[in-house]
Amino acid sequence: MERPAAPACRLDRKEHLQLDIRTLIINLLLFALVFAIGIFLLQRSQPRLRALRWWSGAIIAAGAGFLLLSLRSSIPDLLSVVVANDLMLLALCLFLEGVVVFRRLPRGYVWRISAPLIAILTLLLLYFTYAEASVAARIVAVSLTNAVPVTLAAWLLIRDIPRPMRFSHYFTAAGFIQFAVVSVGRIAHTLISPPADLMTAGPMQAAIFLSIFFLLVVSSFGCVWMVSAYLAEELEQQARTDPLTGVLNRLALDETLARELSRARRGKHALSLLMFDLDHFKALNDRLGHQAGDMALRSVAAATQQQLRATDLLARYGGEEFVVVLPDTDKAHAIETAQRLRKRVGALGIDRGDGVSLTASYGVSTFPEDGDDQDSLVGRADATMYAAKQAGRNCVSASVAP
Ligand code: GH3
Ligand code: MG
Ligand code: MG
Repeated sequence: MERPAAPACRLDRKEHLQLDIRTLIINLLLFALVFAIGIFLLQRSQPRLRALRWWSGAIIAAGAGFLLLSLRSSIPDLLSVVVANDLMLLALCLFLEGVVVFRRLPRGYVWRISAPLIAILTLLLLYFTYAEASVAARIVAVSLTNAVPVTLAAWLLIRDIPRPMRFSHYFTAAGFIQFAVVSVGRIAHTLISPPADLMTAGPMQAAIFLSIFFLLVVSSFGCVWMVSAYLAEELEQQARTDPLTGVLNRLALDETLARELSRARRGKHALSLLMFDLDHFKALNDRLGHQAGDMALRSVAAATQQQLRATDLLARYGGEEFVVVLPDTDKAHAIETAQRLRKRVGALGIDRGDGVSLTASYGVSTFPEDGDDQDSLVGRADATMYAAKQAGRNCVSASVAP
């Protein structure tokens, strides 16, 4: 049988720093309530971010678990021990599911792990409360089962993070990692000196409560930070993307071309530009309508993108004109690439409305021989493209018309 609850634990035997676990729990509850409401409201303003729903659910479950835990010895053990710890584990599993949803990872496996974990914990807690009461065994069971979703969440948070979102993810993962570390310490400590009661269990138990508190604060703030980093990144992407075709827009072209040019200058590499313009596109629009024209623009952009290397960049320069930046590419190879793209566009078989397939004309310019700044290279690509139009369209030109 367990001994009755003694007065609250003290972190420090000298008594100048006292940490009352019930006070900690009340602070934590207030904090959880505010954050759960905040994240829930944030989700309502951003319904696309479904992960927020899981996270606010996680905080509510954690809060409910802590509430029951704080009522220890005032309510039955079934609630304050079994249900309370199940709710805490559920909170970690809900948070993990939120991470999976947020990171757009394949779903489903989380519950194949979480459901058995919760079931196992329930059985162990029931056994070590009613059959063979042991606080130490319960602590080990709780710590071990908690460690699984915590470690998995930390791992999924830090894996393959796009650079602009890195710090927010590392920050959140740090909360989980510290909890995992403290849990391992707690298991070791429990095995070495088993406590008689959770509320009087000494500095180690105060440490675990502080660690949970820390986890809740860091993960709640971390969620908000990750979401804001994600939204900022999305906005940044939108500002750099052409909405019709999904390729880079003019703004992004200017930035990337400046960056690639300075890289080419530094490394003394060649760099080529292709500019292409769809032939008689106005006629296609006039005959088939602007929607058919839009479809044609999308198909040409997608087919062109497919033909390029990962380091090449495709941008919509305006209307039905596109620019391709080819880093590390000399003129001969740029002409080869342009011919390949030209054939690919012709082979799409997009009807112009007169039984003839849509084609494009290509101009080429190369750094350093055709110019050493952005304006002169773009100007030269424009002029050579004009020469291709003059030469009868559906061709590639690397020189200007005489
Ligand atoms: P050329 O072979 O000399 O290039 O002839 P063209 O008809 O392609 O040239 P022009 O510049 O006269 O026409 C370009 C057309 O592209 C005019 C415009 O209606 C169309 N266009 C520009 N942007 C869009 C767009 O976003 N969607 C659609 N559907 N059409 C567009
Ligand atoms: Mg045109
Ligand atoms: Mg044009």
